[in-house]
Amino acid sequence: MEKTEIIIIGAGATGLMAAYQLSRSGKKVTVIEARDRIGGRIHTLNNSSFSSEVELGAEFIHGNLPFTLQLLQEAGIKYYPAGGEMWQASNGKLSRRSWDMPGWGELMTALDDLKEDISIAAFLENNFGASQYAQLRASVIGFIAGYDTADPEKASTFALRTEWQQDDEDDQYRISGGYRQLIAYLEKQCRVNGVEFLLSTPVKHVDWTNSGVKVTVQSSDLYLGDTVVIAVPLGVLKAEADQSASLVFEPSIAEHQKAIQQMGFGGIIKLLLEFKTPFWKNGDAEKIGFILSDEAIPTWWSQYPVASNLLTGWLGGLPAEAKKALNELELLELALHSLANVFNRNLSVLRDELITFKAINWTTDPFTLGSYAYDTVESKDARNVLRQAIAGKIFFAGEYLYEGPAMGTVEAALFSGNAVAEQIINLL
Ligand SMILES: Cc1cc2nc3c(=O)[nH]c(=O)nc-3n(C[C@H](O)[C@H](O)[C@H](O)COP(=O)(O)OP(=O)(O)OC[C@H]3O[C@@H](n4cnc5c(N)ncnc54)[C@H](O)[C@@H]3O)c2cc1C
Repeated sequence: MEKTEIIIIGAGATGLMAAYQLSRSGKKVTVIEARDRIGGRIHTLNNSSFSSEVELGAEFIHGNLPFTLQLLQEAGIKYYPAGGEMWQASNGKLSRRSWDMPGWGELMTALDDLKEDISIAAFLENNFGASQYAQLRASVIGFIAGYDTADPEKASTFALRTEWQQDDEDDQYRISGGYRQLIAYLEKQCRVNGVEFLLSTPVKHVDWTNSGVKVTVQSSDLYLGDTVVIAVPLGVLKAEADQSASLVFEPSIAEHQKAIQQMGFGGIIKLLLEFKTPFWKNGDAEKIGFILSDEAIPTWWSQYPVASNLLTGWLGGLPAEAKKALNELELLELALHSLANVFNRNLSVLRDELITFKAINWTTDPFTLGSYAYDTVESKDARNVLRQAIAGKIFFAGEYLYEGPAMGTVEAALFSGNAVAEQIINLL
Protein backbone atom coordinates (compact mmCIF):
# COMPACT_ATOMS: atom_id res chain seq x y z
CA MET A 1 0.00 0.00 0.00
CA GLU A 2 1.56 3.28 -1.14
CA LYS A 3 0.96 6.52 0.76
CA THR A 4 1.15 10.03 -0.67
CA GLU A 5 -0.35 13.44 0.10
CA ILE A 6 -2.23 14.16 -3.13
CA ILE A 7 -3.27 11.62 -5.75
CA ILE A 8 -4.09 12.98 -9.20
CA ILE A 9 -6.00 10.62 -11.49
CA GLY A 10 -5.24 11.44 -15.14
CA ALA A 11 -2.07 12.84 -16.73
CA GLY A 12 -3.58 15.13 -19.36
CA ALA A 13 -3.01 18.89 -19.43
CA THR A 14 -5.31 19.32 -16.41
CA GLY A 15 -3.67 16.72 -14.19
CA LEU A 16 -0.17 17.81 -15.18
CA MET A 17 -0.86 21.50 -14.52
CA ALA A 18 -2.34 20.62 -11.11
CA ALA A 19 0.66 18.39 -10.34
CA TYR A 20 3.06 21.12 -11.44
CA GLN A 21 1.50 23.79 -9.20
CA LEU A 22 0.98 21.51 -6.20
CA SER A 23 4.49 20.09 -6.34
CA ARG A 24 5.89 23.61 -6.71
CA SER A 25 4.29 24.48 -3.40
CA GLY A 26 5.98 21.50 -1.72
CA LYS A 27 3.17 18.92 -1.82
CA LYS A 28 3.91 15.24 -2.29
CA VAL A 29 2.02 14.28 -5.45
CA THR A 30 1.41 10.96 -7.23
CA VAL A 31 -0.16 10.98 -10.70
CA ILE A 32 -1.94 7.79 -11.74
CA GLU A 33 -2.53 7.44 -15.49
CA ALA A 34 -4.38 4.69 -17.36
CA ARG A 35 -2.43 4.94 -20.63
CA ASP A 36 1.19 4.05 -21.21
CA ARG A 37 1.87 7.69 -22.06
CA ILE A 38 1.34 11.16 -20.61
CA GLY A 39 -0.72 13.85 -22.35
CA GLY A 40 -4.24 12.42 -22.78
CA ARG A 41 -5.98 14.26 -25.61
CA ILE A 42 -2.66 15.89 -26.47
CA HIS A 43 -0.86 13.30 -28.56
CA THR A 44 1.78 14.42 -31.04
CA LEU A 45 2.95 11.45 -33.08
CA ASN A 46 6.50 11.55 -34.35
CA ASN A 47 7.31 8.29 -36.05
CA SER A 48 8.38 7.09 -39.43
CA SER A 49 4.91 6.61 -40.98
CA PHE A 50 4.33 10.35 -41.48
CA SER A 51 7.09 12.56 -42.85
CA SER A 52 6.87 14.99 -39.91
CA GLU A 53 5.10 15.09 -36.57
CA VAL A 54 1.28 14.99 -36.62
CA GLU A 55 -1.29 15.87 -34.00
CA LEU A 56 -3.73 13.05 -33.22
CA GLY A 57 -5.58 15.26 -30.74
CA ALA A 58 -5.22 18.96 -29.93
CA GLU A 59 -3.52 20.97 -32.65
CA PHE A 60 -4.33 24.69 -32.44
CA ILE A 61 -4.08 27.43 -29.86
CA HIS A 62 -7.47 29.06 -30.39
CA GLY A 63 -6.58 32.68 -29.72
CA ASN A 64 -4.32 34.69 -27.45
CA LEU A 65 -4.95 32.46 -24.47
CA PRO A 66 -3.17 33.48 -21.26
CA PHE A 67 -2.35 30.14 -19.58
CA THR A 68 -1.13 28.47 -22.76
CA LEU A 69 0.96 31.39 -23.99
CA GLN A 70 2.43 32.06 -20.54
CA LEU A 71 3.47 28.42 -20.21
CA LEU A 72 4.99 28.38 -23.71
CA GLN A 73 6.94 31.50 -22.88
CA GLU A 74 8.13 30.06 -19.56
CA ALA A 75 9.26 26.88 -21.35
CA GLY A 76 10.84 28.77 -24.26
CA ILE A 77 8.67 26.91 -26.78
CA LYS A 78 7.93 28.69 -30.08
CA TYR A 79 4.56 28.90 -31.79
CA TYR A 80 3.45 30.41 -35.08
CA PRO A 81 0.24 31.68 -36.70
CA ALA A 82 -1.83 29.00 -38.40
CA GLY A 83 -3.81 31.12 -40.80
CA GLY A 84 -4.78 30.25 -44.31
CA GLU A 85 -7.86 31.02 -46.31
CA MET A 86 -11.29 29.54 -45.77
CA TRP A 87 -12.75 27.72 -48.78
CA GLN A 88 -16.12 26.15 -49.45
CA ALA A 89 -16.87 23.10 -51.59
CA SER A 90 -20.36 22.80 -52.94
CA ASN A 91 -21.89 21.22 -56.05
CA GLY A 92 -18.48 20.13 -57.31
CA LYS A 93 -17.08 23.65 -57.07
CA LEU A 94 -14.43 24.87 -54.68
CA SER A 95 -14.32 28.59 -53.97
CA ARG A 96 -12.97 31.01 -51.44
CA ARG A 97 -15.38 32.25 -48.80
CA SER A 98 -15.23 34.58 -45.83
CA TRP A 99 -15.02 33.17 -42.32
CA ASP A 100 -18.50 34.53 -41.55
CA MET A 101 -21.42 32.55 -42.90
CA PRO A 102 -24.16 34.32 -44.90
CA GLY A 103 -26.80 35.69 -42.50
CA TRP A 104 -24.32 35.86 -39.59
CA GLY A 105 -25.15 39.51 -38.80
CA GLU A 106 -28.87 38.79 -38.50
CA LEU A 107 -28.12 35.76 -36.33
CA MET A 108 -25.94 37.78 -33.95
CA THR A 109 -28.61 40.49 -33.62
CA ALA A 110 -31.22 37.89 -32.64
CA LEU A 111 -28.74 36.33 -30.21
CA ASP A 112 -28.17 39.71 -28.55
CA ASP A 113 -31.92 39.96 -27.87
CA LEU A 114 -32.19 36.54 -26.19
CA LYS A 115 -33.06 36.94 -22.50
CA GLU A 116 -33.32 33.34 -21.29
CA ASP A 117 -31.06 30.47 -22.23
CA ILE A 118 -32.49 27.74 -24.47
CA SER A 119 -30.93 25.09 -26.72
CA ILE A 120 -29.55 26.35 -30.03
CA ALA A 121 -31.97 24.04 -31.86
CA ALA A 122 -34.93 25.73 -30.12
CA PHE A 123 -33.42 29.17 -30.75
CA LEU A 124 -33.07 28.50 -34.49
CA GLU A 125 -36.57 27.08 -34.67
CA ASN A 126 -38.04 30.11 -32.84
CA ASN A 127 -36.14 32.78 -34.77
CA PHE A 128 -35.09 31.29 -38.08
CA GLY A 129 -37.67 28.56 -38.65
CA ALA A 130 -38.91 29.93 -42.00
CA SER A 131 -37.83 28.17 -45.21
CA GLN A 132 -35.79 31.18 -46.36
CA TYR A 133 -33.40 30.45 -43.45
CA ALA A 134 -32.84 26.78 -44.30
CA GLN A 135 -29.28 27.47 -45.43
CA LEU A 136 -28.47 29.53 -42.33
CA ARG A 137 -29.88 26.80 -40.04
CA ALA A 138 -27.84 24.12 -41.82
CA SER A 139 -24.67 26.24 -41.61
CA VAL A 140 -25.12 26.91 -37.89
CA ILE A 141 -25.85 23.24 -37.11
CA GLY A 142 -22.83 22.21 -39.22
CA PHE A 143 -20.63 24.72 -37.45
CA ILE A 144 -21.75 23.57 -34.01
CA ALA A 145 -21.10 19.94 -34.95
CA GLY A 146 -17.69 20.76 -36.39
CA TYR A 147 -16.30 23.29 -33.95
CA ASP A 148 -18.11 22.56 -30.70
CA THR A 149 -18.80 18.86 -31.44
CA ALA A 150 -22.15 19.54 -29.76
CA ASP A 151 -25.69 18.17 -29.95
CA PRO A 152 -27.85 21.18 -31.05
CA GLU A 153 -30.80 19.89 -29.00
CA LYS A 154 -28.69 20.29 -25.83
CA ALA A 155 -26.17 23.04 -26.61
CA SER A 156 -26.64 26.30 -24.71
CA THR A 157 -27.38 29.34 -26.89
CA PHE A 158 -25.90 31.68 -24.25
CA ALA A 159 -22.60 29.77 -24.31
CA LEU A 160 -22.45 29.81 -28.11
CA ARG A 161 -23.23 33.53 -28.10
CA THR A 162 -20.27 34.14 -25.76
CA GLU A 163 -18.03 32.03 -27.98
CA TRP A 164 -19.11 33.73 -31.21
CA GLN A 165 -18.93 37.25 -29.80
CA GLN A 166 -15.29 36.72 -28.84
CA ASP A 167 -14.15 34.57 -31.71
CA ASP A 168 -11.13 36.04 -33.42
CA GLU A 169 -10.23 33.63 -36.17
CA ASP A 170 -7.15 35.65 -37.12
CA ASP A 171 -5.39 34.52 -33.96
CA GLN A 172 -4.85 30.80 -34.24
CA TYR A 173 -1.46 29.22 -33.67
CA ARG A 174 0.36 25.91 -33.83
CA ILE A 175 3.24 24.94 -31.59
CA SER A 176 6.63 24.31 -33.21
CA GLY A 177 7.36 20.62 -32.68
CA GLY A 178 3.75 20.01 -31.62
CA TYR A 179 1.72 20.21 -28.43
CA ARG A 180 3.81 17.43 -26.89
CA GLN A 181 6.48 20.08 -26.23
CA LEU A 182 4.15 21.63 -23.68
CA ILE A 183 3.39 18.25 -22.09
CA ALA A 184 7.09 17.34 -21.99
CA TYR A 185 7.87 20.62 -20.24
CA LEU A 186 5.18 20.09 -17.58
CA GLU A 187 6.27 16.49 -17.03
CA LYS A 188 9.91 17.52 -16.65
CA GLN A 189 9.06 20.23 -14.11
CA CYS A 190 6.87 17.80 -12.17
CA ARG A 191 9.65 15.20 -12.00
CA VAL A 192 12.14 17.84 -10.85
CA ASN A 193 9.67 18.66 -8.04
CA GLY A 194 9.45 15.00 -7.03
CA VAL A 195 6.09 14.05 -8.58
CA GLU A 196 5.72 10.29 -9.01
CA PHE A 197 4.03 9.01 -12.20
CA LEU A 198 2.34 5.63 -12.45
CA LEU A 199 1.54 4.81 -16.10
CA SER A 200 -0.58 1.96 -17.54
CA THR A 201 -2.54 2.06 -14.28
CA PRO A 202 -6.30 2.59 -14.75
CA VAL A 203 -8.05 3.57 -11.52
CA LYS A 204 -11.27 1.74 -10.68
CA HIS A 205 -12.35 2.67 -7.12
CA VAL A 206 -12.16 5.82 -5.06
CA ASP A 207 -13.07 5.06 -1.45
CA TRP A 208 -13.46 8.06 0.86
CA THR A 209 -15.30 6.30 3.71
CA ASN A 210 -12.68 6.94 6.37
CA SER A 211 -10.05 9.65 6.76
CA GLY A 212 -8.15 10.37 3.55
CA VAL A 213 -8.89 8.52 0.29
CA LYS A 214 -8.13 4.99 -0.88
CA VAL A 215 -7.64 4.63 -4.63
CA THR A 216 -7.72 1.12 -6.06
CA VAL A 217 -6.39 0.44 -9.54
CA GLN A 218 -7.45 -2.38 -11.83
CA SER A 219 -4.58 -4.60 -10.71
CA SER A 220 -6.18 -4.21 -7.23
CA ASP A 221 -3.14 -2.35 -5.85
CA LEU A 222 -4.10 0.30 -3.34
CA TYR A 223 -2.89 3.88 -3.01
CA LEU A 224 -3.62 6.14 -0.06
CA GLY A 225 -3.73 9.92 -0.07
CA ASP A 226 -5.13 12.78 1.96
CA THR A 227 -6.72 14.25 -1.14
CA VAL A 228 -7.58 13.10 -4.66
CA VAL A 229 -7.94 15.17 -7.82
CA ILE A 230 -10.14 13.53 -10.43
CA ALA A 231 -8.68 14.77 -13.75
CA VAL A 232 -10.18 12.23 -16.17
CA PRO A 233 -12.33 13.35 -19.15
CA LEU A 234 -16.03 14.04 -18.75
CA GLY A 235 -16.73 11.13 -21.12
CA VAL A 236 -15.16 8.72 -18.63
CA LEU A 237 -17.06 10.28 -15.72
CA LYS A 238 -20.34 9.92 -17.64
CA ALA A 239 -19.67 6.27 -18.55
CA GLU A 240 -21.57 3.32 -17.12
CA ALA A 241 -19.78 1.31 -14.40
CA ASP A 242 -19.05 -1.56 -16.82
CA GLN A 243 -16.83 0.63 -19.04
CA SER A 244 -13.15 -0.17 -18.55
CA ALA A 245 -12.07 3.33 -17.41
CA SER A 246 -15.12 4.33 -15.37
CA LEU A 247 -14.68 5.25 -11.72
CA VAL A 248 -16.71 3.89 -8.80
CA PHE A 249 -17.00 6.13 -5.75
CA GLU A 250 -17.57 4.69 -2.29
CA PRO A 251 -19.76 6.13 -0.75
CA SER A 252 -21.50 7.28 -3.94
CA ILE A 253 -21.48 10.97 -4.87
CA ALA A 254 -25.06 11.40 -6.09
CA GLU A 255 -25.15 15.19 -6.42
CA HIS A 256 -21.88 15.30 -8.37
CA GLN A 257 -22.95 12.36 -10.56
CA LYS A 258 -26.14 14.20 -11.46
CA ALA A 259 -24.14 17.31 -12.39
CA ILE A 260 -21.79 15.21 -14.56
CA GLN A 261 -24.73 13.86 -16.54
CA GLN A 262 -26.10 17.39 -17.07
CA MET A 263 -22.97 18.57 -18.86
CA GLY A 264 -22.29 18.15 -22.58
CA PHE A 265 -19.48 16.07 -24.08
CA GLY A 266 -19.31 15.62 -27.84
CA GLY A 267 -17.92 13.09 -30.30
CA ILE A 268 -15.00 13.40 -32.69
CA ILE A 269 -13.16 11.45 -35.38
CA LYS A 270 -9.96 13.01 -36.72
CA LEU A 271 -8.35 11.75 -39.96
CA LEU A 272 -4.81 12.36 -41.15
CA LEU A 273 -3.95 11.71 -44.79
CA GLU A 274 -0.51 12.30 -46.26
CA PHE A 275 -0.20 12.47 -50.06
CA LYS A 276 2.70 12.39 -52.50
CA THR A 277 2.01 15.97 -53.53
CA PRO A 278 -0.04 18.89 -52.15
CA PHE A 279 -2.49 18.52 -55.05
CA TRP A 280 -4.90 21.05 -53.47
CA LYS A 281 -2.43 23.88 -54.04
CA ASN A 282 -3.15 24.83 -57.59
CA GLY A 283 -4.14 28.08 -59.24
CA ASP A 284 -5.28 30.62 -56.68
CA ALA A 285 -5.62 27.99 -53.92
CA GLU A 286 -2.03 28.38 -52.79
CA LYS A 287 -3.05 29.63 -49.33
CA ILE A 288 -5.85 27.17 -48.66
CA GLY A 289 -6.29 26.72 -44.91
CA PHE A 290 -9.72 25.31 -44.10
CA ILE A 291 -12.33 23.75 -46.38
CA LEU A 292 -15.99 23.35 -45.43
CA SER A 293 -18.27 21.04 -47.39
CA ASP A 294 -21.44 18.95 -47.22
CA GLU A 295 -19.49 15.70 -47.60
CA ALA A 296 -19.51 12.76 -45.18
CA ILE A 297 -16.25 14.13 -43.77
CA PRO A 298 -17.22 17.79 -44.03
CA THR A 299 -14.23 19.73 -42.70
CA TRP A 300 -10.66 19.62 -43.95
CA TRP A 301 -7.53 21.61 -43.34
CA SER A 302 -3.98 21.88 -44.59
CA GLN A 303 -0.86 22.69 -42.56
CA TYR A 304 -0.63 26.16 -44.10
CA PRO A 305 1.70 28.12 -43.77
CA VAL A 306 4.01 25.12 -43.31
CA ALA A 307 4.77 23.29 -46.57
CA SER A 308 3.26 19.85 -46.06
CA ASN A 309 1.46 17.11 -47.98
CA LEU A 310 -0.89 16.41 -45.07
CA LEU A 311 -4.64 16.96 -45.12
CA THR A 312 -6.63 16.64 -41.90
CA GLY A 313 -10.28 15.59 -41.95
CA TRP A 314 -12.67 16.33 -39.11
CA LEU A 315 -16.01 14.78 -38.26
CA GLY A 316 -17.56 16.14 -35.07
CA GLY A 317 -20.76 16.08 -33.01
CA LEU A 318 -23.72 13.80 -33.78
CA PRO A 319 -22.35 12.81 -37.23
CA ALA A 320 -19.24 11.46 -35.45
CA GLU A 321 -21.44 9.52 -33.01
CA ALA A 322 -23.30 8.06 -35.97
CA LYS A 323 -20.06 6.83 -37.57
CA LYS A 324 -18.24 5.74 -34.44
CA ALA A 325 -18.60 2.00 -35.16
CA LEU A 326 -16.74 2.25 -38.50
CA ASN A 327 -13.27 0.72 -38.63
CA GLU A 328 -10.19 2.57 -39.87
CA LEU A 329 -10.46 1.34 -43.47
CA GLU A 330 -14.14 2.26 -43.69
CA LEU A 331 -13.26 5.72 -42.41
CA LEU A 332 -10.50 5.98 -45.02
CA GLU A 333 -13.05 5.20 -47.74
CA LEU A 334 -15.34 7.96 -46.46
CA ALA A 335 -12.40 10.34 -46.36
CA LEU A 336 -11.25 9.58 -49.91
CA HIS A 337 -14.78 9.83 -51.32
CA SER A 338 -15.23 13.16 -49.55
CA LEU A 339 -11.94 14.50 -50.90
CA ALA A 340 -12.69 13.27 -54.40
CA ASN A 341 -15.91 15.29 -54.35
CA VAL A 342 -14.38 18.34 -52.66
CA PHE A 343 -11.56 18.60 -55.20
CA ASN A 344 -13.48 17.12 -58.12
CA ARG A 345 -10.83 14.44 -58.55
CA ASN A 346 -10.82 10.88 -59.66
CA LEU A 347 -11.01 8.50 -56.68
CA SER A 348 -8.39 6.10 -58.03
CA VAL A 349 -5.97 8.97 -58.65
CA LEU A 350 -6.40 10.05 -55.05
CA ARG A 351 -5.79 6.48 -53.85
CA ASP A 352 -2.55 6.39 -55.84
CA GLU A 353 -1.52 9.73 -54.37
CA LEU A 354 -2.01 8.57 -50.78
CA ILE A 355 1.16 7.65 -48.86
CA THR A 356 -0.16 7.02 -45.38
CA PHE A 357 -3.17 7.66 -43.20
CA LYS A 358 -4.53 7.41 -39.68
CA ALA A 359 -8.04 7.71 -38.23
CA ILE A 360 -8.32 8.57 -34.55
CA ASN A 361 -11.70 7.74 -33.12
CA TRP A 362 -11.68 9.53 -29.77
CA THR A 363 -15.36 8.76 -29.28
CA THR A 364 -14.58 5.07 -28.76
CA ASP A 365 -11.18 5.57 -27.12
CA PRO A 366 -11.82 3.98 -23.68
CA PHE A 367 -9.92 6.67 -21.76
CA THR A 368 -11.71 9.60 -23.42
CA LEU A 369 -15.12 8.41 -24.72
CA GLY A 370 -15.77 11.60 -26.65
CA SER A 371 -14.19 14.84 -27.79
CA TYR A 372 -14.37 17.77 -25.37
CA ALA A 373 -17.01 19.57 -23.35
CA TYR A 374 -19.68 21.91 -24.62
CA ASP A 375 -22.15 23.85 -22.53
CA THR A 376 -25.71 22.64 -22.21
CA VAL A 377 -28.39 24.87 -20.74
CA GLU A 378 -27.72 23.13 -17.39
CA SER A 379 -23.91 23.31 -17.48
CA LYS A 380 -23.51 26.51 -15.48
CA ASP A 381 -25.28 25.13 -12.41
CA ALA A 382 -23.69 21.71 -12.85
CA ARG A 383 -20.24 23.28 -12.93
CA ASN A 384 -20.91 25.06 -9.65
CA VAL A 385 -21.68 21.69 -8.05
CA LEU A 386 -18.61 20.01 -9.53
CA ARG A 387 -16.29 22.77 -8.38
CA GLN A 388 -17.21 22.01 -4.77
CA ALA A 389 -14.86 19.58 -3.09
CA ILE A 390 -16.45 16.53 -1.49
CA ALA A 391 -15.62 16.29 2.23
CA GLY A 392 -12.61 18.54 1.57
CA LYS A 393 -10.78 15.65 -0.11
CA ILE A 394 -12.25 14.83 -3.54
CA PHE A 395 -11.69 17.54 -6.14
CA PHE A 396 -12.81 17.50 -9.78
CA ALA A 397 -10.75 19.21 -12.48
CA GLY A 398 -10.87 19.23 -16.27
CA GLU A 399 -11.45 21.36 -19.33
CA TYR A 400 -15.22 21.03 -18.70
CA LEU A 401 -14.95 23.15 -15.50
CA TYR A 402 -13.68 26.22 -17.34
CA GLU A 403 -16.12 29.00 -18.09
CA GLY A 404 -15.43 31.41 -20.92
CA PRO A 405 -14.71 31.69 -24.61
CA ALA A 406 -12.03 28.94 -24.76
CA MET A 407 -14.43 26.10 -23.82
CA GLY A 408 -13.14 22.59 -24.37
CA THR A 409 -9.55 23.59 -25.14
CA VAL A 410 -6.10 22.91 -23.73
CA GLU A 411 -6.31 26.42 -22.26
CA ALA A 412 -9.44 25.35 -20.39
CA ALA A 413 -7.62 22.29 -19.06
CA LEU A 414 -4.60 24.32 -17.91
CA PHE A 415 -6.92 26.85 -16.29
CA SER A 416 -8.77 24.15 -14.39
CA GLY A 417 -5.58 22.36 -13.31
CA ASN A 418 -4.25 25.63 -11.96
CA ALA A 419 -7.55 26.48 -10.23
CA VAL A 420 -7.80 23.12 -8.45
CA ALA A 421 -4.21 23.43 -7.23
CA GLU A 422 -5.00 26.87 -5.77
CA GLN A 423 -8.17 25.51 -4.19
CA ILE A 424 -6.24 22.69 -2.48
CA ILE A 425 -3.35 24.89 -1.37
CA ASN A 426 -5.80 27.37 0.18
CA LEU A 427 -7.69 24.62 1.96
CA LEU A 428 -4.81 22.64 3.41
C1 LIG B 1 -9.40 15.34 -31.71
C2 LIG B 1 -9.26 16.47 -30.74
C3 LIG B 1 -8.80 17.69 -31.20
C4 LIG B 1 -8.65 18.74 -30.32
N1 LIG B 1 -8.18 19.91 -30.80
C5 LIG B 1 -7.89 20.91 -29.94
C6 LIG B 1 -7.21 22.06 -30.40
O1 LIG B 1 -6.89 22.19 -31.58
N2 LIG B 1 -6.93 23.02 -29.48
C7 LIG B 1 -7.26 22.90 -28.16
O2 LIG B 1 -6.94 23.80 -27.37
N3 LIG B 1 -7.90 21.81 -27.70
C8 LIG B 1 -8.22 20.81 -28.56
N4 LIG B 1 -8.81 19.68 -28.10
C9 LIG B 1 -9.23 19.61 -26.69
C10 LIG B 1 -8.06 19.36 -25.76
O3 LIG B 1 -7.27 18.30 -26.27
C11 LIG B 1 -8.60 18.97 -24.39
O4 LIG B 1 -9.51 19.94 -23.92
C12 LIG B 1 -7.50 18.85 -23.31
O5 LIG B 1 -6.34 18.23 -23.83
C13 LIG B 1 -8.09 18.08 -22.15
O6 LIG B 1 -7.14 17.88 -21.13
P1 LIG B 1 -7.57 17.07 -19.82
O7 LIG B 1 -6.36 16.89 -19.02
O8 LIG B 1 -8.73 17.74 -19.15
O9 LIG B 1 -8.11 15.66 -20.35
P2 LIG B 1 -7.27 14.50 -21.06
O10 LIG B 1 -6.19 15.09 -21.89
O11 LIG B 1 -8.24 13.62 -21.71
O12 LIG B 1 -6.55 13.75 -19.84
C14 LIG B 1 -7.26 12.89 -18.99
C15 LIG B 1 -6.38 11.70 -18.66
O13 LIG B 1 -7.10 10.80 -17.79
C16 LIG B 1 -6.73 9.48 -18.14
N5 LIG B 1 -7.73 8.54 -17.62
C17 LIG B 1 -8.97 8.28 -18.07
N6 LIG B 1 -9.58 7.36 -17.30
C18 LIG B 1 -8.69 7.00 -16.35
C19 LIG B 1 -8.72 6.09 -15.26
N7 LIG B 1 -9.79 5.34 -14.97
N8 LIG B 1 -7.60 5.98 -14.47
C20 LIG B 1 -6.49 6.71 -14.71
N9 LIG B 1 -6.42 7.60 -15.74
C21 LIG B 1 -7.51 7.75 -16.53
C22 LIG B 1 -6.68 9.53 -19.66
O14 LIG B 1 -5.95 8.44 -20.19
C23 LIG B 1 -6.01 10.89 -19.91
O15 LIG B 1 -4.62 10.77 -20.03
C24 LIG B 1 -8.98 18.59 -28.96
C25 LIG B 1 -9.46 17.37 -28.48
C26 LIG B 1 -9.59 16.31 -29.37
C27 LIG B 1 -10.09 14.98 -28.86
